[in-house]
Amino acid sequence: MGQVGRRMTPQRQIILEEIANARDHPTARDLHNRVRARLPRVSLGTVYRNLDLLCEEGKVRRMSTPTGLPDRFEGNPMPHSHVLCVACGEFEDLDFAQPGLERDPRVEKTGYHIVGHQLEFMGYCPRCLAEREETLVPEEAVLATEI
Ligand SMILES: [Zn+2]
Ligand SMILES: [Zn+2]
Repeated sequence: MGQVGRRMTPQRQIILEEIANARDHPTARDLHNRVRARLPRVSLGTVYRNLDLLCEEGKVRRMSTPTGLPDRFEGNPMPHSHVLCVACGEFEDLDFAQPGLERDPRVEKTGYHIVGHQLEFMGYCPRCLAEREETLVPEEAVLATEI
């Protein structure tokens, strides 16, 4: 089904390997930098095109990020949950399962045959939090002296 005739090019194979080894949910640009170490002439456009194909084939998952931030890509095939930074779009894997959640009456009421679930937590990553504190603290200090 649609597989015939689409051959796995060496380029696509290398892109797939890089994303399969990544555990940080890279952007297309991140992947381009990594793939370039092995394929110095590969363009960012080629990486984008191949990522689209890999997503279509279900080998890679596109993760949507807050508006204005670049998409992230997931190569970890195991079902898992995430925590997402709403400031920078960074995702981290969470080995977080809620046994029995599929049989919750609110889920059963939908009539869906549930095959899995994932949770997404949102917040500010430690790095963004540190940056916010750095910019907040001096302002607070200024206000305090003006009063
Ligand atoms: Zn962040
Ligand atoms: Zn993940």
